[in-house]
Amino acid sequence: QHHGANRAKPDMNRAVSNSRARLAAFSASSSLASEAWDGRFRLHKPRGQHLLTNPRVLDAIARHAALRPGDAVLEVGPGTGNLTARLLASPADRVTAVEIDPRMVDAVTARFGALDLAHKLTCQVIQGDAMETEFPKFDVCVANIPYGISSPLIAKLLFGTYHFRTATLLLQKEFARRLVAMPGDSEYNRLAANVRMVADVKLLMDVSKRDFVPMPRVDSSLVEIQPRGAPPEVDLAEWLGFTRECFGQKNKTLGAIFKQKRKILDLLKRSQRSERCTSDAPGTGSGIILGVLDDDGNDEACSDEDGDSGDRAAGFSTEEVGAFKERIAGALESTDLAGKRPSKMSNDELLYLLRLFNERGIWFQ
Ligand code: SAH
Repeated sequence: QHHGANRAKPDMNRAVSNSRARLAAFSASSSLASEAWDGRFRLHKPRGQHLLTNPRVLDAIARHAALRPGDAVLEVGPGTGNLTARLLASPADRVTAVEIDPRMVDAVTARFGALDLAHKLTCQVIQGDAMETEFPKFDVCVANIPYGISSPLIAKLLFGTYHFRTATLLLQKEFARRLVAMPGDSEYNRLAANVRMVADVKLLMDVSKRDFVPMPRVDSSLVEIQPRGAPPEVDLAEWLGFTRECFGQKNKTLGAIFKQKRKILDLLKRSQRSERCTSDAPGTGSGIILGVLDDDGNDEACSDEDGDSGDRAAGFSTEEVGAFKERIAGALESTDLAGKRPSKMSNDELLYLLRLFNERGIWFQ
């Protein structure tokens, strides 16, 4: 599955230099010839190797990315370099591409190395898994990524340590719809709520599956993600834990969600732990990052068992659990939110409830 030894090692960096004018001419004249797949080696579908070959779509992506002089661009999964060619022909200064497949690394390097012009270091290809490779500083991320890493990659970009202007990403159409959904939309979910906490997202255009080789089963959409300047005024780890609880059963009412025995016990455990370590600095430990945008569970996932055998098993007395249950119910009753459903709530409303819970010693991380 993986190319073990080489994976994640950025030591195969190759610098390829070129002149922008030559490159622009190159990508214009040889577009179809170089963009169609010549079958040099077998493309690996499980790795998301679907090359985008429609030059109009490739041009449109580069145009939407609105690259400026001075920009450092990050591309994830350059494949044979069809999009890379546009990025190199843009006003941007530098392109770094992270690619897991050594055959693709060779293909991109050969493609731009063939231009063999020597004064400017503009393109660097790092061989490695984008999820394990530390990205160099970048201003803009532009990529037709392997769709299998959509959630963790977006989480890495938005909840990691990077600061960038925009990410213009080609994603599976359904995933893109869920990403840009608004409260009340049927697709609204944890992914959208968490991303909206830190960024603005916008659908730019749809792209047909026919524009790829080999043709995938799904259509695609181009999305722009723009991180907000100021970080949100919330402990992100706490927020992410809270939205996990709410959106696991996003169509139930909050009252119903927070009445469940198993949930109450679980929160009681977490809350006691949090009280014990209040000296811990708030923030997002790296461990929680990658899963935070995973799909929501479905509404059937949690059953509501009764009886107090669970309390004792968890080391709590029935009284203790009862009191904590009252605390949660009290927080909900003090607002008119108990009858609301998470999938229809704005982040402001959710945040308000989270603060109320926290003030009452109910913690989610
Ligand atoms: N951007 C190119 C290729 C898209 S196919 C184009 O538009 O034509 C996706 C590419 O991502 C493939 O080259 C695949 O090898 C690469 N890839 C898959 N998983 C990856 C990962 N975890 N990290 C980096 N690259 C990956």
